[in-house]
Amino acid sequence: MSATESSSGSKEFLLSIHELPRRSGEYRDYRLHRTLNRPFGLDMIAIPANEEIDLTLTATSVDEGILIRGRVRSKAVGECARCLAPVEMDIDQGFDELYEYESKAAALSDEDVETDEILMVTEESVDLAIPVRDAVILALPVNPLCEEDCPGLCSICGTPWRELDGEHGHEERDPRWKALESLSERLKEQ
Ligand SMILES: [Zn+2]
Ligand SMILES: [Zn+2]
Repeated sequence: MSATESSSGSKEFLLSIHELPRRSGEYRDYRLHRTLNRPFGLDMIAIPANEEIDLTLTATSVDEGILIRGRVRSKAVGECARCLAPVEMDIDQGFDELYEYESKAAALSDEDVETDEILMVTEESVDLAIPVRDAVILALPVNPLCEEDCPGLCSICGTPWRELDGEHGHEERDPRWKALESLSERLKEQ
């Protein structure tokens, strides 16, 4: 029970649609601004806490329920998967989702509803949490990069390759060669 509550208990993206006539073809436009008190997205990149999430929505009555066409806009921050430099990106992602009237979905048991994530119109509102979350995750790269061709970090010392010159390396050389090198350095200096 508590698992169900935690997954569907938050009402941060509830949209009240009580003024939308339930006659096929009727529609209304909505705009929602939300901020969450936690990051929203993936581990490597997410919408940070308190960043505004802007939703532009059109709700249309159809025979089976209410069709929501939405657009999620926000900003995500994260770390480059190769060099850990900060990464920032805009999110602008659309979605379409059908919310069925409870009478139509009543044939399904609670368990089916949960596993198939069938979305329903409940008490004059629709909960946009699932499509918003899916849209944000779809918009975010699994491996965010600071630049397409980020060369990453030196695997031995962890310095970003961008800050190193082409000569950089860590060959374990024979100590005798080192002695010869320092000797030749000294000779050059004289
Ligand atoms: Zn990078
Ligand atoms: Zn190195």
